[in-house]
Amino acid sequence: IGCGSECSYRKFGRGNEVKALTLVGNCSDDMAIAIASAPYRCIECCEEAIELYKDYTNGVLKISRCSSCQKPVDKYIEYDPVIILIDAILCKAQAFRHIIFNTEVNIHGKLGVFCLLCEAYLRWSQRQGSQRSSDPADFIRYTKEWDFYRMFGLALFELVMFLMGVFAFLWPIKWYEKKDLDSAKLLKALLLSSYGKLLLIPAVIWEHDYSNLCFSLIKLFVITSNSQAIRVILNSSRWLSLLAVLSGLLMETFFQEFAIFGNIFM
Ligand SMILES: [Zn+2]
Repeated sequence: IGCGSECSYRKFGRGNEVKALTLVGNCSDDMAIAIASAPYRCIECCEEAIELYKDYTNGVLKISRCSSCQKPVDKYIEYDPVIILIDAILCKAQAFRHIIFNTEVNIHGKLGVFCLLCEAYLRWSQRQGSQRSSDPADFIRYTKEWDFYRMFGLALFELVMFLMGVFAFLWPIKWYEKKDLDSAKLLKALLLSSYGKLLLIPAVIWEHDYSNLCFSLIKLFVITSNSQAIRVILNSSRWLSLLAVLSGLLMETFFQEFAIFGNIFM
């Protein structure tokens, strides 16, 4: 790769995939130099990094240091996944940066659908409890589970509204700052950071007097996690990310009321 002259490039990445190229020799080929972008981020200061570790010959590896803060670019590459998960549950920005920027986790789509199913199940079970009757027609309706699909539609609608609220808040700010908003990465981060919704299932199954308190705490956890994900992606202040999440929640609540009032999903 390159201009075909005497220059050469060093390859970084896992397996056969080339994630970055650094120029070793001298080259005037602009296109080849443009390829040489930094695919990773320092988990401490969010500065771009070309590599997470240096691979010396005879199996000696050394963690790279950040050129900006002089700390290890990503200490988590040595850590056990359980430790990383615990740090992510504690909403540590470093763990979020490691997962979003320095790994190839691509389960956000499936996780998003699964979280929607959990929300739909919660609403469906609450609805069943409040409307239980001995009418055979109702029994047939429960068997067909149309209500469940309706609740899934409502949960999907709310998620779309929430995401639109967040993006509608952030786009003008980024436009004013003349910076690009990495929409795909932000969407991935928001879906991944909503994993707390999975806790709804055990909260419904082990129903007790404090279930409503549990649902509120789960909601608070998801909001905190989403806010931290936005902060990590934008490298912004806590207040900005919190306002973005509140904007999303406002949009979600407004259209939720609209859907209920207009009998769209009822
Ligand atoms: Zn750094």
